[in-house]
Amino acid sequence: MSKIGTKSSIRKTIKDKDFTIKKKFGQNFLVDQNILRKIVDSSSVTNDSLVIEIGPGMGSLTEHLLHKAKHVLAYEIDSDLLPILENTFTERFTLINDDFLHRNIDKDIDNLNMEFDKVVVIANLPYYITTPIIFKILEESSYVMEMLLMMQLEVARRLTSKPKTKDYNALSVVIQYKTNASIALKVPRTVFIPEPNVDSAVVKLEIIKEKEVKPASEEFFFSFVKAAFSQRRKTLVNNIHRSFNIEKSVISDVLEQENFRVDARAESLTVLDFIKLSDAISSLV
Ligand code: SAM
Repeated sequence: MSKIGTKSSIRKTIKDKDFTIKKKFGQNFLVDQNILRKIVDSSSVTNDSLVIEIGPGMGSLTEHLLHKAKHVLAYEIDSDLLPILENTFTERFTLINDDFLHRNIDKDIDNLNMEFDKVVVIANLPYYITTPIIFKILEESSYVMEMLLMMQLEVARRLTSKPKTKDYNALSVVIQYKTNASIALKVPRTVFIPEPNVDSAVVKLEIIKEKEVKPASEEFFFSFVKAAFSQRRKTLVNNIHRSFNIEKSVISDVLEQENFRVDARAESLTVLDFIKLSDAISSLV
């Protein structure tokens, strides 16, 4: 069988099936065999693993996933793609025609009634819901160990950036608290049909199941991080004062006690710094 993820093959399917590309579903189909291979090779998937794919589209990536994994569980929102996918993949493939954001992931995995060495999410994401998809998996699944996700380069940079860089923000801190995040590969816009108007990157997220250091309250930690970055140019003292209504002099004292500069800004703090400070401030709220 000829490869699915090539320019000629995707164009032929669009023509033969009279398929309309739907922008509202973020449809940009991958047509580069090299990139497809690299995405799968960047994962730790074995022939005993389950891969979850969000948005298989016409199956460009699915074909490569099935070469490596034991089984692929795919979620596709666009019913027009079902006949194409169901005709192409008949074995070791389960397709759910639904919005991924509405699913109970772990229940769907249990329903497969199979044993796996690990569960990995690999997807060329619909870019309009990149962060909701990542947070849904991090918050709801106890099975998923690793993710390899194609997304806009700009978002990829935010997820993986380090303190004191311009891309470092609240999202970087929360993601790096929950995962080891790195860019696996950068991807030019030319390898998609249709071409998106941004470049992309594949981000690898290895989920940290047993955290060495945890905040006293995760809920407060998340709101503290968000507050700390609420006005980027302002100091921590100002942002914390505004968000939690604590006197500035009290916040300055806490910063000094915890060995931070009183004029420190959120962008200079590491994840561990945020945990330490959020615990100290939470006792004042
Ligand atoms: N995996 C294919 C590829 O690489 O060629 C297609 C990737 S395309 C960027 C995103 C896919 O996600 C589309 O097939 C789209 O229909 C699907 N999709 C969009 N929103 C979705 C959602 N909420 N749930 C499940 N699938 C969705």
